[in-house]
Amino acid sequence: MTKRRKLDELNIYWKENCQCELRKTATQAVFGDGNAEAEMVFIGEAPGKNEDLKGIPFVGAAGKFLEEMLEGIGMKRGDIYITNIVKYRPPNNRDPEPKEKEDCNEWLINELKIISPKLIVFLGRHSMTRFFPTEKISDIHGKLLIKPTSEFGKQAFLPLYHPAAALYNGGMRETLIKDFKKIPKALEKIKSA
Ligand code: URA
Repeated sequence: MTKRRKLDELNIYWKENCQCELRKTATQAVFGDGNAEAEMVFIGEAPGKNEDLKGIPFVGAAGKFLEEMLEGIGMKRGDIYITNIVKYRPPNNRDPEPKEKEDCNEWLINELKIISPKLIVFLGRHSMTRFFPTEKISDIHGKLLIKPTSEFGKQAFLPLYHPAAALYNGGMRETLIKDFKKIPKALEKIKSA
């Protein structure tokens, strides 16, 4: 079975069975999107208003900024796979709560197992803390981290600031653009290891 088909089946299963309370207020579940064969998976926080309405992750201002940064390294959205820690929009875009993250966790982990990316890129602290619970994004952004995980064995990660947080913050924006440019070298390093 292709990875795409496996992802479709996974989404059908979890759409019915996810116990996340946010289901009650969200318009719909927002599945991961993009290339199932991608070398890189980007993980954001949770869908916002536009994503909730369209059912596609990163289609608002943060998504546009992300696409610009991808272009800056010679890539396009179709080259990557993009998803969120939480699959439903929290009311008024509040931060997702620990229980909501936990309830969407198996969905995310299985998504990642199917794609089996060379590199997982965190967009912001919510996805970072799933794998690095004691770290701060301000300390480890832009650093390639390789660690053994119970879910996928040895895995490479790159934490970045969230594009929505960086969009209107000059300093953070510069840092994110600079960190983003480290992606091609990070991928090369992983492949040659
Ligand atoms: N921010 C996120 O973290 N995810 C989205 O899908 C959109 C904005």
